[in-house]
Amino acid sequence: MAPNEDVPPRILIVTAHPDDVDFGAGGSVAVWTEAGAHVTYCVVTDGDAGGFDPAVPRSEIAGIRRAEQTAAAAALGVSDLIFLGYPDGRLESTLDLRRDLARVIRQVRPERVVCPSPERMWDRLFASHPDHLAAGEAALCAVYPDARNPFTFPELMQAGLDAHVVKEVWMMASPRAATYVDVTVTFAKKLAALRAHVSQETDREGKLEERLLGWLTHNACQAGWPEGQLAEGFFRLETG
Ligand SMILES: [Zn+2]
Repeated sequence: MAPNEDVPPRILIVTAHPDDVDFGAGGSVAVWTEAGAHVTYCVVTDGDAGGFDPAVPRSEIAGIRRAEQTAAAAALGVSDLIFLGYPDGRLESTLDLRRDLARVIRQVRPERVVCPSPERMWDRLFASHPDHLAAGEAALCAVYPDARNPFTFPELMQAGLDAHVVKEVWMMASPRAATYVDVTVTFAKKLAALRAHVSQETDREGKLEERLLGWLTHNACQAGWPEGQLAEGFFRLETG
């Protein structure tokens, strides 16, 4: 388990869609910002294939979802958001995406990168949306080798962005999760962040809280913690 006090100054969280960070790591983000970390979100797509209301013009979805993610971030103490604007539902780990993520890493210069697992979870298929797998793969390639090798993407150096070594990567929704953050105290903030994604009808049947408590209790159980505690789980990789 990772002690909650072990929080680096700068954390970059890469996700495929608006709301991914809130499902996968919302409670942890609140723990980290409360501990003084500067957290930056890099959201690769605008979630423009999401939403349920046919009366809302599709062209408006991207703006709505950016605004919802921004409001959700505020509930967790995050105000630094980068949207890359890739199309939702068709994400691939391309060289363009690797370059864009390497650029963000060199700009933000985080000690820790949080991203989706590129490895599928067989017992929770919906956590392993293909966009998540692609964003995770590209983020890992950006951490190693793209951001740290000054000769990869020389245009980044020419733009004044020096190479940067990320010390650790924490993967969300990983079948190898073995690092747990205690989110018992920040659970209410995670819930508030998820409810900010109004267009996604995250709490359609009023069962969101119950579902989250189920998942987070299961994680705490996996961590071997006593009943009543809540945890978010990650697969942590040292990359420094
Ligand atoms: Zn997603």
